[in-house]
Parts: sequence; structure tokens; C-alpha cells
Amino acid sequence: MLDRVTVVFDGGKIGWIGSTRLAPPADEVIQVDGFLMPAVADRHVHIGLADPAAVLLGGVTAVRDLAWPADVIFGMADASELPTFNGPLIRAAGPMLTAPGGYPTADGWAPAGTGLEVHGAESAAEAVRTLARRGSAAIKVSLNADAGPTPSDAELASVVQAAQDAHLPVTAHAQGSGQVERALGAGVGELAHTPWTERLSESVVEAMAKTMRIVSTLDILSYGRVTGELRVAADNLTRFRAAGGSVVYGTELSNGEIPPGIHVREALLLQEVVGMTQEEVLGAMVAGGLELGAPADLIALGRNPLEELDALGDLRLVVRAGRVVVGA
Ligand SMILES: [Zn+2]
Repeated sequence: MLDRVTVVFDGGKIGWIGSTRLAPPADEVIQVDGFLMPAVADRHVHIGLADPAAVLLGGVTAVRDLAWPADVIFGMADASELPTFNGPLIRAAGPMLTAPGGYPTADGWAPAGTGLEVHGAESAAEAVRTLARRGSAAIKVSLNADAGPTPSDAELASVVQAAQDAHLPVTAHAQGSGQVERALGAGVGELAHTPWTERLSESVVEAMAKTMRIVSTLDILSYGRVTGELRVAADNLTRFRAAGGSVVYGTELSNGEIPPGIHVREALLLQEVVGMTQEEVLGAMVAGGLELGAPADLIALGRNPLEELDALGDLRLVVRAGRVVVGA
């Protein structure tokens, strides 16, 4: 931690950072009395159901969309790279690969095209190649056995292989008996949610910790209450971390009870029910450090979040790509 720090923005990136005493001159100066840190990245959203401007105003400058129709979401992702876009940088999976009639093809929240049905191993590989050409940032696969059929083991293996060939990560929605084990066995690298439908065995948790990371999304299991699902998920995630597994922050922002922007309760759950330190939670919430050449995406808080994480709700400044969104 540094006191009296200056960050110089240059073309949307950090062009200089260090002690204010040594700072080079700048065209325009903004002074902020607060705790400066990288802005927050949310690794699980459905931005089409949210207000991108509100997300950015709330301190989240980058999001990863994990299932939306290709015709809409890839255009939004492209648009989000322009300085005129009033919202966070969007990286998108595109539609979620699923079995015919599988989740989310029949779910109320998902417009037609949110799920992409695969018909056999070759069809699954072709779907991955098509998404890769369109600019997919990750391949999402639906293993939701509670809501319908799921891709076969052969289709799943084909998805993982094709994604590997395209240098794309695979993230799975694993829900229902045995689905986490299927994802693990197939070489899926990430779970899009902390598993909540069953307590995972020690051996599965230990194997997962070596090859997978988990996107938290704890608050959708509780919305501020204590529920059986939250208890199961917290237990799984705590053991996953103890085994050395990596956790990133994600909220499943859509149109439910999750507010746009930094979701303080998600951060507090990681601390309070998973036992992460404030520093670990903050590390899971950012895409990188404040360093030379990094995107000039940062926030300032009114208090020190390393002392009290709820300082994340006390935003004083939001900057995306060198543009001051809050606090000008
Ligand atoms: Zn989702």
C-alpha cells in the first residue's frame, strides 16, 4: 500500500504510477481522498438483462457474459470496446451449449438463442468453432440435469477438445447429481457457479482444486438469508480453497435481486461464510493490478476495504479506460 499516490492516464491505459512527489505534469488533475484500487470485474453476468450504465456507475468496469443469443451479445461486446459505450467492457461466451430441450432452452429468463443445442460430437465441435470465429471469450456448457437433458459424455469431450484447439476456456453450469464430477472428468476448467446441489466428496474437491476454478455467485443462493443451498455451497467452496483451488468473483447479474455494480454482499459472503481474508476477496474481484500499461480502470473508496469490506459500497471514483465516470 502506498500513501499519496498519483496515477497518470495515457490513452486509456496507466501511463505512470507512483508517489505524488515524483509525478510528471498532467493536462488535467483530479484529486481524490480515498482508497484507490483496480476496478471490479464480474465474471458471471447476463448483461442483456441489466443496465450496462448502472453496472459501470457501480464500479464494475469489465464483465463476462455467460449466455445470451449470439446475434445480440457479440455486437454488444464489440460496441463495449468503443469510448462511446456507456457501460463496462463486455467479454461474452455467446449461447450456452446444451442438449436438445436442455437448460436453458425452456427457461423463462432466457430468450430464444440463449441455449445452442448440439446433436452429437461433431455438431458440438462445430458449435465451438463457430463461437470461436464470432469472438467468444469462453465456451459455456450446460450440465443442468435438474432442468432437462444434458450433453452426452462424447459431446462434452468434443466441446472440451474443440475449445482447447481454439484456445478458449470452458465453463460449466453444473447442477444435479454427479454433474460436477462429469465436468471434472471431461477436463472442464471452470464452474460458472459454486456447486450447491450436493456436498462434493473430498477426492472430487481435491482433484477440482488442481484443474478448475470456481466463479462464486453465492448470493443467488441466499439473497441475504441463510439457506440450505448456501450452506452446501459454502462448505464446498471452503474445502475447495483449502485444497488450493482458485475462486473468482461473479454475481450472476441479470434482472433478479442482484444489484448492478459491485455487489457488496457477494464479497461479504466470501469473507464470512468461506473464510477468505479481505485481501483474498479483493484479489478475486479484480482483473489485475494497478501497474504501468494496464487498462486505466480503477475505483476509489471512502474507507479502507482491507479493514472493512463493506467499504466497497462507498464509491468515490470510477474510471474506465481513463474516462472518469464517477467523481469528476
Ligand atoms: Zn448465469
